[in-house]
Amino acid sequence: RFQADVCPQAAEDPLFGLMAAYRKDTSDKKVDLGIGAYRDNNAKPWVLPVVKKADDLIRNDPNLNHEYLPIAGLAEFTSASQKLILGPDSPAIQEGRVASFQTVSGTGAVHLGALFLAKFSKQIPTVYFSNPTWVNHNQIFSNVGIPTKTYPYFSAETKMLDFEGMISTIKQAPAGSVILLHPCAHNPTGVDPTQEQWKEIAAVMKERDLFPFLDCAYQGFATGDLAKDNFAIRYFVEQGFELCVCQSFAKNFGLYGQRAGAFHYVVASASDSSEAIKRIASQLAILQRSEISNPPAYGARIASKVLNDPQLFAEWERDLRTMSGRIIEMRKALKAELDKLGTPGTWDHITSQIGMFSFTGLNAQQVQALQEKHHVYMTKNGRISMAGLNTNNIEYFAKAVDDVVR
Ligand code: PLP
Repeated sequence: RFQADVCPQAAEDPLFGLMAAYRKDTSDKKVDLGIGAYRDNNAKPWVLPVVKKADDLIRNDPNLNHEYLPIAGLAEFTSASQKLILGPDSPAIQEGRVASFQTVSGTGAVHLGALFLAKFSKQIPTVYFSNPTWVNHNQIFSNVGIPTKTYPYFSAETKMLDFEGMISTIKQAPAGSVILLHPCAHNPTGVDPTQEQWKEIAAVMKERDLFPFLDCAYQGFATGDLAKDNFAIRYFVEQGFELCVCQSFAKNFGLYGQRAGAFHYVVASASDSSEAIKRIASQLAILQRSEISNPPAYGARIASKVLNDPQLFAEWERDLRTMSGRIIEMRKALKAELDKLGTPGTWDHITSQIGMFSFTGLNAQQVQALQEKHHVYMTKNGRISMAGLNTNNIEYFAKAVDDVVR
């Protein structure tokens, strides 16, 4: 016996535990606000109509085969992804300063980036996450031996951004530190910096010589406007940073299980930038080879079909507005219901927050009461997935919240 004697039991992933409890609950009133996936107004998964169309086209193509993709992925997918996230006129793309790799969705992109930084930084840097951040960030970076710290982000008092706290901690980070930022629709809080605040964050990072690690899992899903949602990324690139960008197509294409994503490394403009990016790409290829050999093909084919066809692209933008629009409507409806009930507390943050999630401010006891008494499931930190709300359950949910906060 080798590991059998020494391998300890891991703690249960809280989100998976929550999902299991929801499945077990036999109440017909139960509401799932845990899962970070879009649901339609009938609480059902939604296949985007444009994805269905692209899927049919690919499936019926007589030339379709299931060969390996190249190590860096499907070229037409990575080049279209690059243009989407950096902007079609990005100087970094025009000057050949970007290395792009198809990855196992956004998670794979974050992992590839973390692994690269762990192996090729002059000195292992510390990475700073927002407090709170997506739960997986910590383990992805820790797994590759990068020490982690946090910067303040969410003010429990105002339920808005703690901008002062964020900036003052970033200012104190040692030069060369990695600052992980969510360019839009911050997970789990739904609180984003304004464009002016992004400019200030960039200025401080420039001055302090910090490395931006931009993890973008929700482009187009936040506001329904692809350009608005990638403002921060374009701005940081324009400011001449060397940086990396992680891109997921899980949410904005509804391709969760297909694992389509991309990792982009951008170097600053310099006389040797095309040589530097070649060296970086060569090392990323070795890392990718040892980790996954070849990225998964089907989801990338679907996204690529849509991204490279102007008509399908326009249809996709409509589908994005359907998803983001429904979520924005649910925010307004929830706030209106709570106002109507006169629920104690202020609820303006429900409509000022953006994207898939809302940090409600409900505490762990209230969350537990919601689950036990009202069959409403959400993570202990009071985060709700707005997509789990619909016109059939919003009144029920508002009344349940009203009950537990009184
Ligand atoms: N990064 C953030 C901030 C996220 O919220 C998520 C998903 O919830 C991801 C990355 C990765 O998602 P996926 O691997 O499904 O693309």
